[in-house]
Amino acid sequence: MQQDNPAIGFIGLGVMGGPMCANIAAKHSAKVYAFDMNASALDTVSKAGAVACRSVAAVAAAADIVFLSLPGGAQVREVCLGPDGLATHGKPGMVIVDLSTTGVAEARAVAAELAAKGFLFADAPVARTREAAQKGTLSIMVGATDALYARILPLLAYMGSDIALCGGTGCGQVVKLINNTLVFEHTAALAEMLVVGERAGVKAETLLAVVSNGSGDSFVLRNHGMKAMLPRVFPEQAFPAPYALKDLGYSIELAESCGVEPRLSKVARQYFEAAVEAGIGAKYFPAIIELIDKK
Ligand code: NAD
Repeated sequence: MQQDNPAIGFIGLGVMGGPMCANIAAKHSAKVYAFDMNASALDTVSKAGAVACRSVAAVAAAADIVFLSLPGGAQVREVCLGPDGLATHGKPGMVIVDLSTTGVAEARAVAAELAAKGFLFADAPVARTREAAQKGTLSIMVGATDALYARILPLLAYMGSDIALCGGTGCGQVVKLINNTLVFEHTAALAEMLVVGERAGVKAETLLAVVSNGSGDSFVLRNHGMKAMLPRVFPEQAFPAPYALKDLGYSIELAESCGVEPRLSKVARQYFEAAVEAGIGAKYFPAIIELIDKK
């Protein structure tokens, strides 16, 4: 293992993983070995300087530190511990850094099973947009030991501008799930109030501008409200309702495991379930305003 200049692996090259992998390939001096089930995603990062691999096993054989950016916990478990996974084909001592958003209990379970086989694991979910992934300005929330955090921090800095150690394994996911839950709840609350304001005779533009000067201001108001709900622009290939439902499912499970009844999270979940049922689930998630503002 090259401690000072490790060979990197990257598995999962989608909306977020593709640009994150491209940033590592551009900034790291050793090779970056990449894999995705989707051939066109693999092709894009190989043009950005990564070495295209044909399987998880090929990445495992070549890399010292492997990053994952996968849809959720089921895929992370399969890629780490499945029959063709990293633990089967990698060298003990390999480090796995999971940038995906997953459940807390499952992150801790995967970490424990990997540790029993001699592998190190950190959860490092990311926040912000695809644009931030492209610019290398993500916020990254890490759950790891102090020693592992020190090892992976220079590599995370290729992808993020705000990186925080949140605690031991799983604590990165705790913070990420709470962040996203607050965003989803707030988006639903803002969508309702925007429609109320418009129907009561106030232009949405005026409402948002004036509230942004008051104590109702927020990041969600300025970002999701002003940039998406106001112009009713909800692109696909951004962050769709099924991903919001995935994160809310993990968050509700976490709250209940802590003895807290997450009533607001469950209301927000109803909106995203309704978006999928109404056929607008592929749109950027603030599109739930279309359910409230039915013409
Ligand atoms: P995505 O669906 O665009 O990408 C996931 C990629 O993983 C796909 O290219 C898919 O082919 C690949 N994949 C799935 N299973 C695989 C397997 N077994 N082996 C190899 N490749 C496999 O998703 P995304 O939007 O890039 O999100 C990735 C993670 O980041 C998710 O956990 C998501 O919750 C989180 N996230 C997304 C955003 C966002 O704005 N999109 C923001 C922050 C965090």
